[in-house]
Amino acid sequence: MEFFSSNKILGILGGGQLGKMLLYTTRQWDVTTHVLDPNPSAPARLACNLFVKGDLMDFDTVYAFGKQVDVLTIEIENVNVEALKKLEQEGVQIYPQPHVLETIQNKCRQKKFYEHHQIPTASFSEFENLEQLNEAVAKGQLSFPFVWKSAAMGYDGYGVSIVRSNADIAALQAGPCMAEEFVPFDKELAVIVCRNPSGEIATYPVVEMEFHPTANQVEYVLCPARIDSILATKARKIAMQVSAAYGHVGLLAVELFLTQDGEILVNEVAPRPHNSGHYTLEASYTSQFEQHLRALLNLPMGQTDSMVSAVMVNLVGKTGHQGNVFYKNIDQILTLEGVSPHIYGKKETRPFRKMGHVTIVHPKIETARSIAEQVKETVEVISK
Ligand code: ADP
Repeated sequence: MEFFSSNKILGILGGGQLGKMLLYTTRQWDVTTHVLDPNPSAPARLACNLFVKGDLMDFDTVYAFGKQVDVLTIEIENVNVEALKKLEQEGVQIYPQPHVLETIQNKCRQKKFYEHHQIPTASFSEFENLEQLNEAVAKGQLSFPFVWKSAAMGYDGYGVSIVRSNADIAALQAGPCMAEEFVPFDKELAVIVCRNPSGEIATYPVVEMEFHPTANQVEYVLCPARIDSILATKARKIAMQVSAAYGHVGLLAVELFLTQDGEILVNEVAPRPHNSGHYTLEASYTSQFEQHLRALLNLPMGQTDSMVSAVMVNLVGKTGHQGNVFYKNIDQILTLEGVSPHIYGKKETRPFRKMGHVTIVHPKIETARSIAEQVKETVEVISK
């Protein structure tokens, strides 16, 4: 594969922070890139060779963009899959493959996929609309609490709600959805698996995700997860099973619940670089972004081990602040041990919008975790 310093082009659908960080390696390896994003000031714009402004859900836009590239990937799942299918038929290499995206774009379809492949997952019922869901509650077929999930793709917890009463149902969005069994989990874990077209597979160590109590958003990611090695092996094995079922190319982040009795359930997957793998930039032999690029170009997979323990903390917009972003006190964290800030370059902050992250590396995970808390308490993402 002659991708290094050649005329071959890698296209990326989406120009957010995941695309921007993928471009660190394309710059390092001198791979030519095109990026499509609706936002003219998308974070990835600065680091690509050609930026195209356009709608990722529009068939003609995605098709025309794809016709210009040799390999096409995504950094966001909400893209026009029909255009990708046509491009694939016409010989463009598309990773993740359109069939993978089609399965995961709909949460109900994704859950049925796990059932079909006998992959452990929380039980669920599917509903065409909220009236049907209400009826099921009235008939006693569904009892509180349960987790409502919109079938169509949500993002960062926006299409997910824990329902504890009829009043909670009234606040839900209309449309196709599912009610999932509420899992009183002990921990949330994730395993990133990467596969190249030749079938070579690499799995990263298990990470632990700590969530913000109300925003349903990851606050800290810890690598390694604070679990025993038997559970870690089990989690990696399930992630490999999920990976084999999808037959994807590129990264697949598998999000898992560890229940109080040691069971591991698959929550959902993301076939792209993932927030739970940002720590790999500082802590791993091969970052998730480099690994994804290796897979896209059918190169050998890199070593996934960590060189050091790491904790990542997301920098999200503070509630009550909207507008031009200001990272208050960010200079103060630079004297802390093992700290690397990442600023995505989004001009505007909004409550809970992911604006950046900070990685803390340290030989001791508990020390890294307490420095991460100090970072979280010090930096404020506000508007000015
Ligand atoms: P998104 O696609 O928005 O990331 P997820 O399905 O990952 O949505 O859900 C977001 C978060 O909501 C999860 O990480 C978890 O904290 C919580 N959650 C989701 N499903 C369940 C469940 N069945 N039981 C308990 N909590 C859940």
